[in-house]
Amino acid sequence: MLTIAVSKGRIYEEALPLLAEAGITPIDDPQKSRKLILETTRPDVQLVIIRATDVPTFVEYGAADLGIAGKDVLMEHGAESLYEPLDLGIAGCRLMTAARVDAPPIAGRIRVATKYVNIAQRYFADLGIQAEIIKLYGSMELAPLVGLADCIVDLVDTGNTLKANGLEPRELITNITSRLVVNKAAMKMKHQAIQALIDQLEITLAKR
Ligand code: AMP
Repeated sequence: MLTIAVSKGRIYEEALPLLAEAGITPIDDPQKSRKLILETTRPDVQLVIIRATDVPTFVEYGAADLGIAGKDVLMEHGAESLYEPLDLGIAGCRLMTAARVDAPPIAGRIRVATKYVNIAQRYFADLGIQAEIIKLYGSMELAPLVGLADCIVDLVDTGNTLKANGLEPRELITNITSRLVVNKAAMKMKHQAIQALIDQLEITLAKR
């Protein structure tokens, strides 16, 4: 049995057609079902539906053999303990700093609100900027508006969320897409099945 960890939402929606090319289609729709383990049209493959930030943890501990996770989540988690054989090119967006439209350029000691504490810490340290990082779990855009932070670090896609809140993107930290990750022991123990899936996904991606 191969277990693939994936999160609900955009990553799941965009991963479905890729998995379908490998003969893997969930039998239940996770939007309608409350099941956390989904059987698929391949009897040897199941999906576990979990929070995006939990995907690296499940794969690292071997609770899932494979996972699909955003590069942002992998960078924040630290992905040295996982194989990352494929960039799936899905759920693309940018990890950026953003500030109020009327805020001056970053200077001196600043406060940064984000859920990406580790990434933000590294980013500002590399720039030699003294930054106090404030961990938030959501609604980052609010922080500069109410004086909690000078800027935020968050994912930007269309930029509409920032704009609707009087913020603007400032610096690009990195471009983000979702990656296939593999548990290192599973890569050895279930090599044939996992390699076949990687090969099939590669063929599908090359056709895009
Ligand atoms: P947008 O308004 O299109 O710039 O989208 C920004 C909002 O969507 C932010 O709250 C982001 O956290 C979220 N977002 C954008 N792209 C992604 C993605 N690929 N994965 C997860 N969240 C995303």
